[in-house]
Amino acid sequence: MQTKIEKITPESLREAKNLIDRGEVVAIPTETVYGLGGNAFDDNAVKKIFEVKGRPNDNPLIAHVHLDYDLLKIVDYDPPYAKKLREAFLPGPLTLVYPSKGKVSPFVSCGLDTLAVRVPAHEGAQAFLREVGIPIVAPSANLSRHVSPTSALHVYNDFAGKIPLILDGGECEGGIESTVCDCTGEVPTILRPGLVTREMIASVVGVCEVYTPDFKAGEKVKSPGVLYKHYAPKCRVKSFLRKEDALAYYASLDCSRAVLCENLETEFFRKAGCERVYDLGETPAQMATNLYGLLRKAEEECDELVVLEPREKEGVMQGVLNRLRKACASEDIKR
Ligand code: AMP
Ligand code: MG
Repeated sequence: MQTKIEKITPESLREAKNLIDRGEVVAIPTETVYGLGGNAFDDNAVKKIFEVKGRPNDNPLIAHVHLDYDLLKIVDYDPPYAKKLREAFLPGPLTLVYPSKGKVSPFVSCGLDTLAVRVPAHEGAQAFLREVGIPIVAPSANLSRHVSPTSALHVYNDFAGKIPLILDGGECEGGIESTVCDCTGEVPTILRPGLVTREMIASVVGVCEVYTPDFKAGEKVKSPGVLYKHYAPKCRVKSFLRKEDALAYYASLDCSRAVLCENLETEFFRKAGCERVYDLGETPAQMATNLYGLLRKAEEECDELVVLEPREKEGVMQGVLNRLRKACASEDIKR
């Protein structure tokens, strides 16, 4: 199969809709990362997404809808605090999990009785969602466990020959996947950190919890995606908290290598003679934007990436560190 990359135009949107109507999957830009989209009502399209990504079949998908889509067509209950969160943050990088109405394909939520829904802010994504008019499930458009894609080329590198069309909406500004927030309980609970932070949610509805999975035998994990090694480049990755340790390790390596660190520390490594120093950025938002592109650059340029963990740990950095640590993890978390 030939994989086309097309800018977003009325013609390419029509072509995308025709493909979706025929049960195909199409890659689309969003403000966080690129997604691999398919018709949420079509069992075969949903199965195709899992197959082409190699995604474990217990890791549920997020349904994407346009801003005016009537949510109650697909979810059963909309708590008042969720309405406030939508007004404050949507369209944007926040996914809300509701009790499902059971209308979308049962493969979307992998047997859970909930449904995750997101309204992306990216103009191209909105135009596509309005064109198709139905909920589109769209996990990140990367091979499962590889680094998420922030450009059309990243998607092409993972799926050339396997999907018919990539809609090119430029580089993703957000850079890390949406915050996933459970709205099925008394209070909102973050299942996956992202650009909409706990503090931001609490400032709107007064309270926000953060779910930390408890892997005790028999415990039902709320968001199965948290179990898997994710976002990993093909090169080895090792991370450090002290720059002296990172430098000593870098110096001991007998292979092609690079250092990844926040802007503030680049000078230290350059002065010490490190040949490749990747600058993650100055602010947490910049670090989110740059992270995946640099992990993909690392796997192209070297055998091992030495990471110095940025100092800031709060707010948006919780999302960045969550992805960075998963990229450095050597295996899936044991249940
Ligand atoms: P991705 O689409 O690759 O960004 O991954 C989607 C994330 O949303 C994963 O971490 C899933 O576990 C999570 N997710 C999707 N649907 C649900 C749901 N119904 N309940 C809880 N988490 C979900
Ligand atoms: Mg993903």
